[in-house]
Amino acid sequence: MSAKDYQKDYYKTLGVPKTATAAEIKKAYRELARKYHPDANKGSADAEDRFKEITEAYNVVSDEKQRKEYDEARSMFGGFRVPTGTRPGAGAGAGNFDFSDLFGGEGLGDVIGGIFRGRPGGGGAASRARRGADVETETSLSFGDAIDGATVSLRLTGEGPCPVCHGTGAKTGTVPKVCPDCHGTGQQARNLGGFGLSEPCKTCRGRGLVVEDPCPSCSGSGRAMSSRTIQARIPAGVADGQRIRIPGKGAPGEHGGKAGDLYVRVHVTPHGVFGRSGDNLTVTVPVTMPELALGAEIKVPTHRGAAVTVRVPPGTPNGQVFRVAGRGVRGKDGTLGALLATVEVVVPQDLNKKARSALEDLRIATEGADPREELLRRARQE
Ligand SMILES: [Zn+2]
Ligand SMILES: [Zn+2]
Repeated sequence: MSAKDYQKDYYKTLGVPKTATAAEIKKAYRELARKYHPDANKGSADAEDRFKEITEAYNVVSDEKQRKEYDEARSMFGGFRVPTGTRPGAGAGAGNFDFSDLFGGEGLGDVIGGIFRGRPGGGGAASRARRGADVETETSLSFGDAIDGATVSLRLTGEGPCPVCHGTGAKTGTVPKVCPDCHGTGQQARNLGGFGLSEPCKTCRGRGLVVEDPCPSCSGSGRAMSSRTIQARIPAGVADGQRIRIPGKGAPGEHGGKAGDLYVRVHVTPHGVFGRSGDNLTVTVPVTMPELALGAEIKVPTHRGAAVTVRVPPGTPNGQVFRVAGRGVRGKDGTLGALLATVEVVVPQDLNKKARSALEDLRIATEGADPREELLRRARQE
C-alpha cells in the first residue's frame, strides 16, 4: 500500500460506514465483486477499474492490522495530505477472499489475473528502455531541387527532456530518490483477493524513482515541449508526396532507448513547363497541323539544358509522344530518365487572309473524306 492510498476513501468505495463490521464489509464486497467482475462485464475497462478499486479497498479494510493503520492515517491527515513517514507495505496474504465463493468453485483467479496482466501499459514497461517515437514533418522543394536533391532545414517541435532539470524532474541541486515502495523496480506485486499480480508501482508510476523536490519548470514530469532545427538531406529524384525516412532524427528515447525516426513528406512545387513521371520528365510541345501532316523538325526545350531538335515524321497523329533519351531525372540506380515530349496541335485563333484562303482550299481538296465515318460505323455495330 502506498502513501497515496490514504487519500482514498475505501469505505465509500465499498459503500459501507466507517463503523461497519467485518461481516458487513465482506457482504458489501461480495455484492460489488459479483456486479463488477470482468467476466460479467464483457471486458469493460470501466468495470475492470471499478473491480480493482473495490478489491483494493477490501484488501485493506478486511485486514484488521491494515484497517487500523489506514483509519489512523486518515484521521491524522484528513485524507488530503500524503504522509511521508508511515508507509506500511502491503501485508502478504492480506484480505484473502475466495472467488470460488462467488462463482461456484471455478478457478476464476487465474482468469482475472490474466485479464489484468494483459492490459496495455501494464507490467511496468515504462521503467524499461523505450525507443523514441517516430516523428513526421513536411517540407517543400522547388522542382529543380527535387531533381537534384537538396539539404533543407527542418524545425521540429516535440516533447523532450526538460532543459532545466535535464529530464530528471528534480529541482536544481537535488536528485530523484529510488522509490521506497518498489525499490526502483517500478513494479509492485500485489495480492488481489488470493492471487498475485504485478502492476506499475503507484508511488512512482512505474518509473522507479520519486522526486521529493520537483523542478518548478516542468512540475516534476521531466518533460517539456521544445523545438529544434535539423539539417536533412533530401535525395535527388524525390517525387511530390514522397516520404523520406531519416533514421535516428525522431523523438529522443527514454531510459537509454534509441531515438525514433524522422519521416519527411516532400511537397514539390510544380514547374511551369515540365512535369514528372517517375524518372522521366514530360513536356507538351505545341505544333501546327501542317507540321504533323507534312513532317517537320521542331525544337523541344529540355530542363536546364539547350533545346533539342526532334524530327516529326509526315502523318504524325496529334498527341504522339517523342522520347528524348538522357534528358530526364537521375534515378536511384544512377541512370537518367528520358524527356517525353507530347505534340499538341494548336488551332490558330486569328487567321490572316492568305491562311484562311489556303485552309478553305484544303477543305475543298479533302472533301468526301469524312474523318467521323469510322466512328459512326463502329458506334452502330456495338
Ligand atoms: Zn524540469
Ligand atoms: Zn515505485
